[in-house]
Amino acid sequence: MQLPIYLDYNATTPCLPEVVEAMIPYFAQHFGNASSKNYLQGLVAEDAVECAREQVATLVNATPQEIIFTSSATEAINTAIKGYLNNFAEAHIITVATEHKAVLETCASLTDKGITITYLPVQENGMVALSAIKNAVRPITRLLVIMLANNETGVLQPIKEIYQLAQSLRIPLFTDATQAVGKIPVNAAETADLLCFSAHKMYGPKGVGALYINKKSAIHLHPLLHGGGHERNVRSGTLNVPAIVGFGVAAEYVQQCMYEEIERLLLVRNRLEQALATLPNVTINGQQAPRLPHVTNATFSALPTSNLVKLLSTKVAISSGSACSSVVNQPSHVLTAMGIDTLDALNSVRFSLGKYTTDSDIDSVIEEVKQAVTQLQSS
Ligand code: PLP
Repeated sequence: MQLPIYLDYNATTPCLPEVVEAMIPYFAQHFGNASSKNYLQGLVAEDAVECAREQVATLVNATPQEIIFTSSATEAINTAIKGYLNNFAEAHIITVATEHKAVLETCASLTDKGITITYLPVQENGMVALSAIKNAVRPITRLLVIMLANNETGVLQPIKEIYQLAQSLRIPLFTDATQAVGKIPVNAAETADLLCFSAHKMYGPKGVGALYINKKSAIHLHPLLHGGGHERNVRSGTLNVPAIVGFGVAAEYVQQCMYEEIERLLLVRNRLEQALATLPNVTINGQQAPRLPHVTNATFSALPTSNLVKLLSTKVAISSGSACSSVVNQPSHVLTAMGIDTLDALNSVRFSLGKYTTDSDIDSVIEEVKQAVTQLQSS
């Protein structure tokens, strides 16, 4: 069976062969519990975890002590937001309408506890205005939650300026950097007080994420998971040693080839966008903003609603939004927040490129898209 050309690297990435190879010994041969420090099996596992912590920390220019391993970015997001807000009897959070559902739903769950939330709008280019943040601040604002790179459009928020503003306001900033880390350089200490990312978005395994806690910020997080006090009492639970080892190897790999890969992917993406621009009624969303180098979000206006992704699905693996929301045929909340109308949002497609994407893949994808558009226009 011929698999579709994979252009959904923002949903997940394949594990690198060297990642899989590094993980294998930690399933059976070195099976020890990383918390069992009285004997060699445990110590070998602990060493492997600490080596990976160093590799992961280095990727974001942090120290190993600032990295907490979790099961996913989603868990890191829940830990950061709920764990921090648990310090206050009364609180207000400022976030942005285009955040990932993992952030939006975590914030929404806190309204039951009397916490109020401001969802800032974005401009047409997908970026939040610093003035909007300033205007939303209240005396009880306890946390800013603003992502680094959007998963649907690749739009980058002006996070360094936002962090400077947050510091001047003395309000901690948590940034979801899941789509940015491993793709573009991220210096965590210059970016946020709390920051999360995930191995499976950067050629590592699924089921492991990281939460960075800036050592200068003196932030106390209440754990979501209580137990043996693993991960500095922030996240109890026996560590997933094979996955953590894989995360470390992936972190080292993406760091080594990041600049080369950015340059290559920009060229490949330009090829895609130039070809899309020759089709009638196609708009690239967020094109006016700084963006991740490997993401294109395109609206195909004037097509019968939302059949493009389905029609292409045997040939090209793409999505109409984030991996979780593409199951439900609803207009993307990210695109509607950027002022795109419902029909156009339903006719939008995310192409996300990666390590194995070639020029010839893009040429084939363009041919397939052209044929599908013609078919839909005549239906
Ligand atoms: N945040 C963003 C921006 C994402 O794109 C994703 C995954 O799609 C997540 C959070 C959740 O990551 P994980 O799958 O590790 O829970």
